[in-house]
Amino acid sequence: MFENLQDKLNKAIKTLKGQGRITEINVAATIKEVRRALTDADVNYKVAKDITDRIRDKALDRKVLISVEPGQLFVKIVQEELTELMGGEAQGINIKGDPAVMLIAGLQGSGKTTFSGKLASYLKKQGRNVLLVAADIYRPAAIDQLKVLGEQVGVDVYAEPDNKNAVQIAQNAIAQARKTGKKVVIVDTAGRLAVDEAMMQEIEAVKRAISPTETLFVVDSMTGQDAVNTAKTFNERLNFDGVVLTKLDGDARGGAALSIKTVVNKPIKFISTGEKMEALDVFYPDRMASRILG
Ligand code: GDP
Repeated sequence: MFENLQDKLNKAIKTLKGQGRITEINVAATIKEVRRALTDADVNYKVAKDITDRIRDKALDRKVLISVEPGQLFVKIVQEELTELMGGEAQGINIKGDPAVMLIAGLQGSGKTTFSGKLASYLKKQGRNVLLVAADIYRPAAIDQLKVLGEQVGVDVYAEPDNKNAVQIAQNAIAQARKTGKKVVIVDTAGRLAVDEAMMQEIEAVKRAISPTETLFVVDSMTGQDAVNTAKTFNERLNFDGVVLTKLDGDARGGAALSIKTVVNKPIKFISTGEKMEALDVFYPDRMASRILG
């Protein structure tokens, strides 16, 4: 994960190690390299410029702390700023409600169905009674896929294979959950290969009809800046509550993870790092920052 970025950041910071102190000159050279590492990682240019400006100002501000070695001081500042960039404090999901309703949105192939299964498993392990809902009315295979995952994690799956109305399916599922005492309903929705108007209208209608406790936007981190742009479009239409970044196991760059919070101002709540049902983690910005710095 993020190997390229880690490599380049470490190389950039290395130039400060062993220097007696931070000066305007040596910090300027390092800042330039850090900025390049971030833009090479596909971080949005403005985001990279803003964060490196802040890192430089902090480094020059604190350079008087002569007891700290410049390299160490700089690493600490970069760590603080990367944490802030990714959202600061970890943000959990809200599971209040009877039932709590999770609406899962995103493009086809982003990992929505896989994430729905993982979230069901995660919440079940916390002792919650969960219902998965297949509300993808375009791909019959999506229903089967969710059923397989449901079976694997031991969670019931609600589907109406002959109903072509996603709003009705979601509403019926919630009614069913109430009847059967389910406490969390996870609604997996349809996704297309690109953002299209009909899909947006459908998911807006589902959201309006079921007033979810949490709307989570799932996005493939390997798509870099496209991930950020798709997040922007979905957020304008859905005003989602949080982001789920998938396929981080294959993302050597890290641009989406680093830019998305600033661009859409919504927290990353979960990260997915593999196809297996266990490969789901709550997102902690500080831990991710440490990981990026190796
Ligand atoms: P959907 O169309 O959005 O529902 O996407 P799927 O859940 O069907 O996922 C698309 C593909 O990506 C499947 O082959 C998944 O196994 C795979 N996938 C999902 N999440 C991850 C992940 O975090 N890492 C990796 N490596 N593959 C993933």
